[in-house]
Amino acid sequence: MNEEIVELALLQKIDHQIDGIDGEIQAEQNALDGKSGDLAEREASIVTLTERIDILEKERRTLEVEVTDEMVHVKDRQAKMMQVQTGREQTAILKEIEDGKKGVKEKEEKTVAIMEEVEQLTADIEENKNLFKGETELLQEETEKVKNAIAAINKRKKTQSNKRVRQAKKIKPQILRKYDTLRQHRNGLGVVNVLDGVCQGCFMAIPPQQYNLLLRGDKPLDCPTCQRIMYHEAAEAEA
Ligand SMILES: [Zn+2]
Repeated sequence: MNEEIVELALLQKIDHQIDGIDGEIQAEQNALDGKSGDLAEREASIVTLTERIDILEKERRTLEVEVTDEMVHVKDRQAKMMQVQTGREQTAILKEIEDGKKGVKEKEEKTVAIMEEVEQLTADIEENKNLFKGETELLQEETEKVKNAIAAINKRKKTQSNKRVRQAKKIKPQILRKYDTLRQHRNGLGVVNVLDGVCQGCFMAIPPQQYNLLLRGDKPLDCPTCQRIMYHEAAEAEA
């Protein structure tokens, strides 16, 4: 294999490792972000439950006032009952009293239902608050762990980056630029092996004539499909 391509392939290996390290850091960060997201959701649900209780309490107070008014009205009608003479008037007042009592009963039932719901919501809030407390503590521990993990990963990255700087110096600037550009536009892969006439970057076959040139190994060639710099190295199973 062409000496320059050998160095370039080595650089690609180092870059691949650095990409992997970046992926590890991202994964750690994503996991942590996911957990803080869950915690924020928990906090938001506590707010929602609290708001629901406020609405219900307002409703309950309105009902209370309405029940008082209704009872006053019923008492008033009962007093009026004593004074009326005709059966028709009595029937009308009796109906009013009955409707009033019915209204009171319905509103009292509604009040009971509200109180039951408030009780349930209060318990839910309590549970969520306890969970929130525990989860906050866990997240703090987790954040510390991730911070340390990322620091350790970054140490490894630094080593690889130093290695990369040294390796890059072995490559002609022009080729290095081409390789870096290819990496940017070709999913991190700038130099590729060709196995059985197939580019391992884009998995397209390369013309036999070019493949033969490549097998001779004295000149760098670009893949006609993905433009990556090609080399040939027999697969381990073949070697
Ligand atoms: Zn290709």
